[in-house]
Amino acid sequence: MPATPAARGRFAPSPTGPLHAGSLLAALGSWLVARQSGGQWLIRIEDIDPPRQRPGAAADQLRTLARFGLDHDGAVEYQSRRGALYQAAIDRLLAAGTAFPCHCSRSDLAASGGIHRRCMARSERPDPAIRLRVPERCTIGFGDAICGTIRQRVDVDVGDFVLRRADGLWAYQLAVVVDDAEQGISEVVRGADLLDSTPRQILLQRALGLPTPRYAHLPLLRDADGHKLSKSSAALPVDADRPLDALARLWGCLGQRPLPPARSVGQFLELSLDQFRLERVPASPFTSLAAAHNADSASAV
Ligand code: GLU
Repeated sequence: MPATPAARGRFAPSPTGPLHAGSLLAALGSWLVARQSGGQWLIRIEDIDPPRQRPGAAADQLRTLARFGLDHDGAVEYQSRRGALYQAAIDRLLAAGTAFPCHCSRSDLAASGGIHRRCMARSERPDPAIRLRVPERCTIGFGDAICGTIRQRVDVDVGDFVLRRADGLWAYQLAVVVDDAEQGISEVVRGADLLDSTPRQILLQRALGLPTPRYAHLPLLRDADGHKLSKSSAALPVDADRPLDALARLWGCLGQRPLPPARSVGQFLELSLDQFRLERVPASPFTSLAAAHNADSASAV
C-alpha cells in the first residue's frame, strides 16, 4: 500500500495585471504548505475572462514568481486551453439534470436581489447561461485549516449559480473545480476573499463526483491605514527588485516568527520551510502589512 499521497498545491492567478502583495501572500502561503510536506506546487493561469485580462500580465506574473524563488512543478497550465474539460463537466451535469439552461437576465433577477431560484426570464436568449440547480435547504459546511468551521446556506445566500455565462465564458466556479480535481490538487491555499466561493465549489465537486481538497484561506492584506487592498489594485505593487524585503514582510503577515537574516532568496525560503507553522496564521479575515514584524512606514512591500 502506498503511503498517503503527497500534498499537491497550486497558485492560480488571473492575469489582470502585475502580482500585488495580496496575490504574493497567496503564492507564498500555498508554496509553503505544499513544499513543507514534500509535495508539488503547480501554477495555473486563470485566463478565462478576456475583458479583464491585460496582455503580457501572465508572463509578468511568472517572472515575479521566479524572482521570489517560488519554483513550480510541471508546465504552467492555462485555463483558456482547457475548454473541452469544462464543456464535458457541463454536459454531465446537464445530462444528470443538475444543471439547466437559463434565459434570465440581471434585470429579471433584480427583484430577488440577483439570487436565482426559478426562471423569471421575460424573453429567450439565443445562447442561455447554464446554472447549477441548488437544492432547497442546501447547507454546505467545511473545516478550513485557518478559519475553522464555515457554513453557508447556498440556496438562500447564493441561489442557482452560473457555470457558463450567456456570453459563452466559463464561470470561475466551474473552471476551478474541474481543474483542481483534474490536476489532483489536495491543498487549496488562497485568500479569504474566496472563502464564500468554497461552499459553491464543494457543492459542485459533489455534483460531479469529485474529491474535495483541504482548504486554508489566508487573511487579506490591508494597507497601513486599514484599507482593504482590492484584487486588481496596483496600490501596493510588489518590488520584485527587492524580493528579500518583500518576502520578510509577507512572512510577518502570515503570523510567523521572525527568521534570522537571510543572504539570499533561496536561503530565506529554506529557513521559512523549516519554520513555517500553519497554525500561526491569523484566523482573522484581515492582516495588516503594518503588523508585519519588520514592516516600516513604506507602503510598498
Ligand atoms: N484566479 C483567482 C484569483 O486570482 C484565484 C482562484 C483560486 O485560487 O481558487 O483570485
